[in-house]
Amino acid sequence: MPSLALWLSALSLWLCGLPAVAAAPVDLAYTFTPVVQDNVLTLDIELYFPGNADGRVELELPSRWANQEKFYENIRDLRPLSAGTRLENTAKPSIKVVRFPAGQPVQLRYRLVQNWKDKLTQSNYFRPILQEDYFQVIGINFLVHPIWENDKPLNVRLVWNSLPEGWTLADSFGPFAPVRNVRSSLSKLFESLFVGGNFRLLQRQIDGQQVEVAIRGQWPFGDDQFADLAARILKIERDLFKDNDFPYYLISVILTEGKPGSLAGTGLTNAFATYLSPGTKLETDLQQLLAHEMLHAWNPQKFGRLAQPEAAMYWFSEGFTDYYTREVLRRAGLMSFEEYIKSVNRSLRDYFVSPVRDADDARLRREFWNNAAMQKLPYLRGSLMALNWNAEIRQISRGRFSLDDAMRSLLAAARQQPGVLDSKRVARAVEPFIGRDTTLDIARFMTAGVPLAPRGDALGPCTVLEDEIAGPQPIPQFRRTEKTACSPGG
Ligand SMILES: [Zn+2]
Repeated sequence: MPSLALWLSALSLWLCGLPAVAAAPVDLAYTFTPVVQDNVLTLDIELYFPGNADGRVELELPSRWANQEKFYENIRDLRPLSAGTRLENTAKPSIKVVRFPAGQPVQLRYRLVQNWKDKLTQSNYFRPILQEDYFQVIGINFLVHPIWENDKPLNVRLVWNSLPEGWTLADSFGPFAPVRNVRSSLSKLFESLFVGGNFRLLQRQIDGQQVEVAIRGQWPFGDDQFADLAARILKIERDLFKDNDFPYYLISVILTEGKPGSLAGTGLTNAFATYLSPGTKLETDLQQLLAHEMLHAWNPQKFGRLAQPEAAMYWFSEGFTDYYTREVLRRAGLMSFEEYIKSVNRSLRDYFVSPVRDADDARLRREFWNNAAMQKLPYLRGSLMALNWNAEIRQISRGRFSLDDAMRSLLAAARQQPGVLDSKRVARAVEPFIGRDTTLDIARFMTAGVPLAPRGDALGPCTVLEDEIAGPQPIPQFRRTEKTACSPGG
């Protein structure tokens, strides 16, 4: 927390209207004031932006995200503050029209409330959470904003007023500051995380870059153990992509009232939000959740916007992420080679006995959201293809390259030319390392649903691939042959 003097000087900068960063006119500003009244927390929010020459702009209220909709029902008392400004309703409850004197600044205010009283579970925790002693909100579920181009970089100012005593705060953009100027597009803002209240804050460094953990609730593990685990996994992931370009990273942990063993997480702008049910241990499930979800910071977030329809790319964004989840845990020393083999075998079994194994892409997209087996399919066959490609690259390059190199090349391409992440882009990044065009693989195994078999050398020279013939059909399984130190690929 900053000292009181710092706080006041920062605040007065805002009150005087002096720009904290010279020559950076603010495109969009929010002022947040937490208010606790009768044990109920609400967030008073003021919104400011320079008006255009038309004197008219459309305003969007938060609407839907994840498994939730009608976020605008959490928005109360939306009204103009600037002189001559009017709000008009439209046919859509999430869209308003703002009219104002041309070229004049526009200022509006609203109150954010939590509009449910049930237990905190996955049926509601992606909505704005505003409890008496803490809050967690995500841009997309609570920010009212002018409708502008989503990807355009903006100068955004975020101001926090009169925090209740003893509260801590953290957000996607850096260690807490009462006034912060950030360069962010609307889409990055929608995916940003804001937490405050009785969170305990812990800091870790990864090669000089700060990682902050905001945790609340009581756990079978210590806060330090959690922070160490998260930092250890993140370090391996950043090494994998040779990318430490994260000046700041926030991980929040909140205690839900879900069934034991129910855990979830979501990757956000420079952040990761974790939702854990009581009694969650620092074991495989949580390690996998952290590794998998934090990998999404690259695949797909840094690789590009997923081509539409998204489900047609899940073999890569989810399947390759699952392949690397295992890799990351093994490289972090959190999974032994034996456990690694077991995990691959489990995934092979799930794939070979899947009732929808041979589904083509059209059927996958049609049934994805209402068929549990279908939801697993892109994870299973995607991770198997990653395993095969990695083995092929290692073989062709005599161990000089691996799938990691192709992923780093994909990242470099996305940096050079940001855009849509589609199968062609993936194939283009893989080709120089594998020495052939892989679009045919993708078309056959991912799009047409031709069954994919694992390569015998996929787990390296210390394993053999055998058919297990217990059920109605043979299932390929890896078995370890040597007890010497081994890892996939050698
Ligand atoms: Zn995922």
